Amino acid sequence: MIAQTVEARQGYKNIWVVAEVLEGQVQKVSYELLGAARTLADARKSELWCVVLGDGISKAAVEMISYGADTVLVVDDPRLAYFIDEDQASVLVHLLRKHKPEVMICGATTRGRALIPRVAVLASCGLTADCTGLSIDLDNGDLLQTRPAFGGNIMATIRCSNHRPQLATVRPRVMNALEPDPSRIGRVIIETMLEGEATKLKKVIEIFHDPENAINLADARFIIAGGRSMKGAEGFKMLKRLADRVGGAVGASRAAVDSGWVPYSHQVGQTGQTVQASVYVACGISGQIQHLVGMQSCDYIIAIDKNPDTPMMQLADVAIVGDLFEIVPRLLEELPKT
Ligand SMILES: Cc1cc2nc3c(=O)[nH]c(=O)nc-3n(C[C@H](O)[C@H](O)[C@H](O)COP(=O)(O)OP(=O)(O)OC[C@H]3O[C@@H](n4cnc5c(N)ncnc54)[C@H](O)[C@@H]3O)c2cc1C
Repeated sequence: MIAQTVEARQGYKNIWVVAEVLEGQVQKVSYELLGAARTLADARKSELWCVVLGDGISKAAVEMISYGADTVLVVDDPRLAYFIDEDQASVLVHLLRKHKPEVMICGATTRGRALIPRVAVLASCGLTADCTGLSIDLDNGDLLQTRPAFGGNIMATIRCSNHRPQLATVRPRVMNALEPDPSRIGRVIIETMLEGEATKLKKVIEIFHDPENAINLADARFIIAGGRSMKGAEGFKMLKRLADRVGGAVGASRAAVDSGWVPYSHQVGQTGQTVQASVYVACGISGQIQHLVGMQSCDYIIAIDKNPDTPMMQLADVAIVGDLFEIVPRLLEELPKT
């Protein structure tokens, strides 16, 4: 047990970010979190620490200083070459007990969502998942964690006053990374993975890439998204042709994903991905709040819908009223084949 009383808050200090490393590469969300956490640390007059776990990641660790970290805690161990949530959780809990951060944040990515709840249970502290906004109470260090609640209909701000450390996962693409500053100076602390921290519960036998489902919606500049109106997987093939024509990716509403027409990796929204494309084309997506929270910060939104009064049509920069099964084929005819 780490801390259960208000008094026990004493001794907890600094803001931590857990970096996400995939095949040796630090993921963009880590830089975004450092940008947000830098603001929190400055406001709280504390240090910003970044935890980097992996194999052969020492160079990446130094880079985190240029993105805002004061201290980087590195555990560089071949046993961390592959993401095994039980092992990473054991290592993190050991570090939490040793260094006692006031706050620890991690990306609300597939990995972060697997890892941080385990840490919260092992460390007997709370967790606010999927935050879209963070600030800090300067009087007592309570993290003010904002996230959609009640099906996305309200935004709730949650504080965890009686437990330390405070854990939160934060959605990718909602915080801004700082410009890297190679002249920043920080320190690197090398930690070691203890014998018992490799739980041996799972063993990675083979890694394979599935090009069919490997889409990177979060980084796509053009997204062509479809909803319940697509009527089936065939409809999504038409959207894929359009996406290919403009070098974009296919997105989907939950209604389309739940219908089994397109994999979950394409889902945009509260329980899917948050995207920030330059152009988002919504084909027959009504724009319920749970969808809008995932795409409303796209630069330019084009909506195609039979009904001109939907929330999506009201939000769009360009709203095309009509049948998408007539409009999309016409767009395909007009756009040059590459
Ligand atoms: C807790 C919770 C989490 C959720 N998370 C998500 C999420 O992450 N992402 C998400 O998307 N949803 C999410 N939802 C579901 C969300 O509330 C909506 O049900 C869903 O987004 C609706 O999908 P849709 O717009 O495709 O379908 P609909 O709302 O049915 O809209 C279909 C639209 O297509 C139009 N249309 C029909 N035929 C045509 C045609 N031929 N040409 C042109 N337009 C046509 C209709 O006029 C309509 O506007 C969540 C719900 C809950 C409760």
